[in-house]
Amino acid sequence: MRIVVFGAGVVGITAAWYLAADGHEVTVVDRQPGPGLETSFANGGQISASHAAPWANPSAPLTILKWLGRADAPLLFRPRMDRRQWRWAMQFLVECLPSRTLSNTIQCMNLALYSRDCLEALRATTGIEYDQLTRGILEFHFDPKSFAEAAKAAELMREYGGDREAKTADECVAIEPALAACRERLVGGIFTAGDESGDAHRFTQELARLAAAGGVAFRWGTTVEALVTDGISVRGARCFTPVDTEHRGRESIETDIYVIALGSYSPLLLAPIGVPAPIYPIKGYSATIAVGSHRGAPLTSLSDPERKLVFSRLGERLRVAGTAEVSGYGRALDRIRCAALVARTFELFPDAGEREPVQFWAGLRPATPSNVPLVGATRYRNLFLDTGHGTLGWTMACGSGRALADLIAGRKPHVDFAFTRG
Ligand SMILES: Cc1cc2nc3c(=O)[nH]c(=O)nc-3n(C[C@H](O)[C@H](O)[C@H](O)COP(=O)(O)OP(=O)(O)OC[C@H]3O[C@@H](n4cnc5c(N)ncnc54)[C@H](O)[C@@H]3O)c2cc1C
Repeated sequence: MRIVVFGAGVVGITAAWYLAADGHEVTVVDRQPGPGLETSFANGGQISASHAAPWANPSAPLTILKWLGRADAPLLFRPRMDRRQWRWAMQFLVECLPSRTLSNTIQCMNLALYSRDCLEALRATTGIEYDQLTRGILEFHFDPKSFAEAAKAAELMREYGGDREAKTADECVAIEPALAACRERLVGGIFTAGDESGDAHRFTQELARLAAAGGVAFRWGTTVEALVTDGISVRGARCFTPVDTEHRGRESIETDIYVIALGSYSPLLLAPIGVPAPIYPIKGYSATIAVGSHRGAPLTSLSDPERKLVFSRLGERLRVAGTAEVSGYGRALDRIRCAALVARTFELFPDAGEREPVQFWAGLRPATPSNVPLVGATRYRNLFLDTGHGTLGWTMACGSGRALADLIAGRKPHVDFAFTRG
């Protein structure tokens, strides 16, 4: 079949890869000049299958209230005159109910664990390189109360297949010697040996290159403006290519199957044709620090729940990323939030790398209120979704793409997950 995947982020490119592996004639369309240039560009780098708990949890509303109005808050809600933002916030509150949190965590973890296996298999078959490290992920704690809660949650996750283990402070330092610099404050950690890290952008670029070599076609610089339907199926996608290429101008792209992998922008195309997609952009920041000749940067990927930050070593760079701002589609860099990332890094790891220059970046996580992505069919027989991966798009991309290819081929995916239905 002829399939067009709209969106060349990590999610769209992996979907294209698995669809092409099934023998389909695949074209990827994106408004950018290359793969992975929006939210998949400079994320935290974690493949965090066992840390798949959503932000919507019973303690989230109080945390958000506590931080309200603080410019450096890890979780910041900036109220706007935007009906979509308020509707999303209300749905988020519902997802904070304990029963919803548990079922969302299980959904995310099932897909994430499956995805980690798919990534490992993909690496074995292609030899793809993306500064990957398979040293696990360690969540470190300075507060005894938060450590006790995390240890309890880890026990619960183990019941559902997560491989999280509580570690003493000394064990944490043995896993990641860079933590010796803050050993005095450390009370313990939660370690997931099977988790990984790597550069999502490099992965997306490399996989797109391999896909192109295998026959996948790419249309860069093309914006999808609208989907045109006859009520039963999608008849075409109205597109615009402003730059001077052979496709310059307006056109209708027509194909057998349409896949929407447009990240935070997916609802802008889906809402007008009546496909529900409760996705709102949640802005996050990253700072990339050159390690240089410094010896104090961690190698094992780390999570800092107190500040909602993650640290991943990407070759000779240290990436620190995180924080969440519910403030619409703007991607401007806030000086205070950028400075907070760097300050925390050097507070924990004084010899982590060069203090200047640091590369700052902000991206928009395509978040559903539950953080459970939308993968599967829609009411239109030839329109499929692979979007809304929120905080875990890199972690879940391979599993989502593989499962979507199964659904399109009429096979049952090898993962227990609530796929969207028509
Ligand atoms: C600070 C930060 C840290 C993160 N850390 C992690 C992490 O450690 N681990 C993890 O798993 N996840 C992490 N994430 C989340 C992860 O990066 C995202 O979930 C993931 O990148 C989403 O991928 P995507 O392909 O859906 O979206 P995108 O990468 O945004 O791709 C969507 C594509 O659609 C294109 N597009 C949009 N609209 C149109 C249009 N109308 N026409 C044509 N093209 C269009 C865009 O150009 C873009 O290329 C983090 C995110 C942030 C912001």
